[in-house]
Amino acid sequence: MKVTVVGVGYVGLVAAGCLAEGGNHVTCVDNDIEKIQRLKNGVIPIYEPGLEEIIKSNLKAHRLSFTTDLKEGVDKSLVIILAVGTPSAPDGSADISTVLEVAAKIAVFMTEYRIIVTKSTVPVGTYEKVTSVMNQKTEIPFDYVGNPEFLKEGAAVEDFTKPDRVIIGTTNPAVMELMKQLYAPFMRKSSRIIFMDPASAEITKYAANAMLATRISFMNEMSALCDTFGANVELVRAGIGSDARIGNAFIFPGLGYGGSCFPKDVRALIFMGEQQQCPMTIARAVQQANFTQQERFAGRILNFFGDKAGQTTLAVWGLAFKARTDDVRESPAIHCVEKFLAAGMKIKAYDPEAMPAARALLQNQIETVEDSYDALAGADALVICTDWQEFRTPDFDLIAEKLNQPVIFDGRNLYDPNYVKKQGIEYYSIGRP
Ligand code: NAD
Repeated sequence: MKVTVVGVGYVGLVAAGCLAEGGNHVTCVDNDIEKIQRLKNGVIPIYEPGLEEIIKSNLKAHRLSFTTDLKEGVDKSLVIILAVGTPSAPDGSADISTVLEVAAKIAVFMTEYRIIVTKSTVPVGTYEKVTSVMNQKTEIPFDYVGNPEFLKEGAAVEDFTKPDRVIIGTTNPAVMELMKQLYAPFMRKSSRIIFMDPASAEITKYAANAMLATRISFMNEMSALCDTFGANVELVRAGIGSDARIGNAFIFPGLGYGGSCFPKDVRALIFMGEQQQCPMTIARAVQQANFTQQERFAGRILNFFGDKAGQTTLAVWGLAFKARTDDVRESPAIHCVEKFLAAGMKIKAYDPEAMPAARALLQNQIETVEDSYDALAGADALVICTDWQEFRTPDFDLIAEKLNQPVIFDGRNLYDPNYVKKQGIEYYSIGRP
């Protein structure tokens, strides 16, 4: 099939690469000239495991091409996938202006029937809005499919090629059949496509993210309760996770959720409901609990140093919002670092992939180092913010030797408290005595 993907960020580039890997001819369109130029040369602008190989091999096989010319993308393909950003507007709603702008341009460029597939996360009503802006620009028929994406950064290629499910929001049987064909390479074992109307597809995406955010926030609140009573949240987690009705996924206490999706999607869900006088009580509480969790962790560190904060240097391990990505958008690590900086602390940070993005976001207010242990020299404590695999079994002797005083604040519960204590290190984690 010939497919065009508009917006080659974390979602679009993965979708494009995987669809090309599935045998399709994929044209990628983005308005970022520099990004497209780099991609043409096989330079991947993001860190996503497994993506580089796919992009390079499909470029070589001429199944993948990159352009800034939307008209070229519209001319070439029957299916046009929209994967542009839908960031939070100041009022919390999802800003779909880029989706609408691209849809209107597609309508202008169209010379024959096209299928517009929206992978961007968009609120209910986007189907009608896209259809309306396109109808104002063209009389040529088109179909609209709501096709929300569920991939996780850090495992995006795996998620796209082996999806738990694919949601297709359309009521047109011919389009359903075509979408089935498009996803066929990823449905070899069994079909996991769920068809529904566009509004239900739109809500499904927000409901999924809000449900996952709820589990995280719930467990974080339990960690605060455990702190209060001197109980151990990891035992509580094991105790409840063993219940098949609850399960073990997404109940790890930590620094709170972050990234480019959960925070903005919970905000958009709240806006969507409340605009229709439908209270989003749970989503609101989830959002508050997430904020509180980050404040609690940063606050504990600030309290520890008290009025010496201005003379304190912290070594920070992890800046990305989670492991296996370079994405720092709404990262809890960044939130905490901003609080430390505001208190006059100095930050020496290390992250395997996210340092350039973090430096840019924090306007170079932090020092970054190329080796995790180099962050420790001259620092008054180690703060762990992201659960990168390489942080899990560190050399505790070296940590104790390099720090001014042997203190670790672990926002991801990576270590056994008793073991760390035996290494002569003062250790504070989440919801554990
Ligand atoms: P991103 O910011 O990484 O990528 C968006 C891309 O669109 C950028 O490359 C940008 O240059 C391009 N773009 C912007 N305006 C354009 C225009 N007018 N024409 C062409 N290209 C344009 O965003 P992302 O993280 O890939 O997210 C995209 C959408 O997918 C969002 O709605 C997001 O909520 C949703 N989503 C993201 C994830 C995720 O893990 N990142 C997962 C599921 C769904």
